[in-house]
Amino acid sequence: MDLEAEVDVRRRIMARLREAVDASPSGTLSRRELSAFAVDGRVWRLLDQGRGIRNPKDLQATLTIMTSLHGPYGDEPMESGLFRYHYQSSSDAGDNTKLRRACELQVPLILFWMLEPGLYVPVFPVYVVADDRPNRVFLIALDEGLRFLPDPMDPGEAAKRYAHRIARRRLHQPVFRASVLRAYEVRCAVCRLQHGNLLDAAHIIPDGADHGAPIVSNGLSLCKIHHAAYDNQQLGISPDYRVHIAHDLLVEVDGPMLRHGLQEMHGQRIGLPPRPKERPDRDRLDERYQQFLRAS
Ligand SMILES: [Zn+2]
Repeated sequence: MDLEAEVDVRRRIMARLREAVDASPSGTLSRRELSAFAVDGRVWRLLDQGRGIRNPKDLQATLTIMTSLHGPYGDEPMESGLFRYHYQSSSDAGDNTKLRRACELQVPLILFWMLEPGLYVPVFPVYVVADDRPNRVFLIALDEGLRFLPDPMDPGEAAKRYAHRIARRRLHQPVFRASVLRAYEVRCAVCRLQHGNLLDAAHIIPDGADHGAPIVSNGLSLCKIHHAAYDNQQLGISPDYRVHIAHDLLVEVDGPMLRHGLQEMHGQRIGLPPRPKERPDRDRLDERYQQFLRAS
């Protein structure tokens, strides 16, 4: 396939992928969906069984790469905010050749972040911007704006800050949201609402604070109303997993949203993830609950 046709194919696959992600309640796609992904009448395999890279025969360069926090290669965002993707296997060639080609041609590709076996958060388009042969890693830009760094290996402070912001928005936030929503089975912990497009992954301890890590035990799946109420200290959650509504809201008289949506939640137990290790951390809940008590 010539380069122009290849770029067009990539564009169409990504447009279809965007629709699929938007239609998914938690922003995740399954291995089954990605193994036979139909685009304009042609079926594409976007993941290769047992490998972290997909190099379709028809294409000149790699189409997708896959990684996870605990994967065998230890891929991770690096200091510069560019994502480090380790070479496949022990040779420099093989699958790596087409990834190197993606760098030369500057074609967009797709990064799949594996939440758990069989479940992925797609991040795209991403670009291979450097081949760090001594360290056997490719540097991946998570945004178009990071494609043209003069020196990707040593991008300078301003570019690093920008790259970190991009990594947060394009990788960490979607992965956090998908992880939390999956853990709570796509339900609001307070009211049990089950519409993914109306749900957020709320931080218990805010992002940016020391212990505000984007991990499931620092998260709560909340609908938009309960998320806003939680952030505004109108709703608190105590370490015994009970909902508390601020006093001034409890005594107010208003319509059904206030009555059913907030007042009747007071004293209820939140819905918890089935897996104990994904439940909200009680110390973090307590720290946050003390702020709620001070505010109300
Ligand atoms: Zn809710």
